[in-house]
Amino acid sequence: VKTTGRGGFEFYFEELKTNAKRKILIDTELRKAIDAKDFFLHFQPKVCAQTQQVLGLEALVRWQNEHLGFVSPAEFIDYAEETGLIIPLSEIIFEKACEAQRDLQAQGIHLPMAINVSSIHFQQRSFIPQLLETLRAYDIAAKHFEIEVTERTVMNDSASTIEKLVQLKKLGFKISIDDFGTGYSSLSYLIKFPLDFLKIDRSFIQQITTLDEKQAVVDAIIQMSHRLNMKVVAEGVEQEKQVDLLRAMGCDIIQGYYYSKPLPFEELIAFLSFWDEH
Ligand code: C2E
Ligand code: CA
Ligand code: CA
Ligand code: CA
Repeated sequence: VKTTGRGGFEFYFEELKTNAKRKILIDTELRKAIDAKDFFLHFQPKVCAQTQQVLGLEALVRWQNEHLGFVSPAEFIDYAEETGLIIPLSEIIFEKACEAQRDLQAQGIHLPMAINVSSIHFQQRSFIPQLLETLRAYDIAAKHFEIEVTERTVMNDSASTIEKLVQLKKLGFKISIDDFGTGYSSLSYLIKFPLDFLKIDRSFIQQITTLDEKQAVVDAIIQMSHRLNMKVVAEGVEQEKQVDLLRAMGCDIIQGYYYSKPLPFEELIAFLSFWDEH
């Protein structure tokens, strides 16, 4: 009995120490990586539910570190948000997105590219001016980009949030609500803001073919979005029967492993040329 108690405590303590060490390492390495702009992007195609055409891309950041190996964005984006490092990091991500957009267009590929914007970054006064500066540096128009914000960003329906969204729209950006259904329950923002796309979270999609309740919710979200002139994107679609059901329900756009994982630039080019031929 003695040893179990002590062992349990020691185990817990060791785990705390390991977590603390990892955070310190992530902090040090993330700062170095930001200085060196040592990140890259993967791109996931968004496919038309009806015609199976590729309609756009989502850019997702990737980080490979010599000491930490591959670190998932869920982990380091969270950490970057806690520490404010998300602001310089997001600037680097948008630069890389512009670079990729320029290279795609040079190859004759014209697809809108979505970027993820975290709430903390969105709230910054420098957010829109910085976007514009980067667009100007790469000589690309805003209409080639979509901004994905989460419910957390829009639940704050302050004058400045509305103003920013309206300004982004006027500049030519499209706006998506990401992870819809996972956050805050108020729907009032849907009628207050100029939104183009609503992305239904993977947690709803996963069980639509097995749980009637999930299917009912997804069906209702699609109807509602269309009444509000928004297009619906289903996220995390992995199976053919999910595609079939979503198409039958009138979902507009499908994103998920069923069509493609997020791909590095070269593989994206190969995917797109293969896709067009088929
Ligand atoms: P998200 O914006 O909801 O991105 C979708 C996530 O689901 C991506 O994970 C993608 O790889 C994954 N995914 C796509 N299709 C499927 C599927 O069919 N099945 C499954 N199981 N997963 C699928 P990833 O790239 O690890 O990104 C995780 C989250 O990290 C993102 O969620 C987003 O919140 C954040 N993130 C990623 N890149 C960026 C970025 O450049 N900027 C910011 N601010 N956040 C980012
Ligand atoms: Ca997203
Ligand atoms: Ca999402
Ligand atoms: Ca998510």
